[in-house]
Amino acid sequence: MDYYSSQISKLIEELSSLPGIGSKSAGRLAFHILNMPVEHVEKLSATIIEARKKVRYCRNCYTLTDEELCPICKNEQRNHKLIMVVEDTRDLAAYEKTNKYEGVYHVLHGAISPMLGVGPNDIKLKELMKRLQDDVDEVIIATNSSLEGETTAMYISKLIKPTGIKVSRIASGVPVGGDLEYIDEMTLLRALEGRTEL
Ligand code: ZN
Repeated sequence: MDYYSSQISKLIEELSSLPGIGSKSAGRLAFHILNMPVEHVEKLSATIIEARKKVRYCRNCYTLTDEELCPICKNEQRNHKLIMVVEDTRDLAAYEKTNKYEGVYHVLHGAISPMLGVGPNDIKLKELMKRLQDDVDEVIIATNSSLEGETTAMYISKLIKPTGIKVSRIASGVPVGGDLEYIDEMTLLRALEGRTEL
């Protein structure tokens, strides 16, 4: 990209490091930004910096939030004895969009993958087990139906079984390798309602 000034090339390079942004899209974004009023660019970058600095893990369920306890954990109307385990905050958002789930969540931030060297200690699993010392009726495992998601589900169910707490797995209406985020709400609800005890 020698035909651009180094500042432009640098911007394109940074943008193309974002997920889903190839070099073409990065170029388009870069030139769009360069044509924006400076105040607008300042506002955009300030918003990014502020979000990054203020957002942290909920101390209970580990979803991303800007408060110590996320709005779901704080909500007394929710059933705190029903915990749905998901891989990331986007999966939680997908279930929240259905407006039908009344329990709370636990966000693992990943899935066990021996191939990628991700072990049980690399996800928020100890934190989940700690929560189960409180009064919990059921844990619904809603990890993705990928190999990693299934491995994680199996591992978690083996850990929980001895505690006597009911463990269930969402139905496999969710396509194999499917990312929960992209699955429509009806399919998510069917998967939830058709969950089976492990
Ligand atoms: Zn929370």
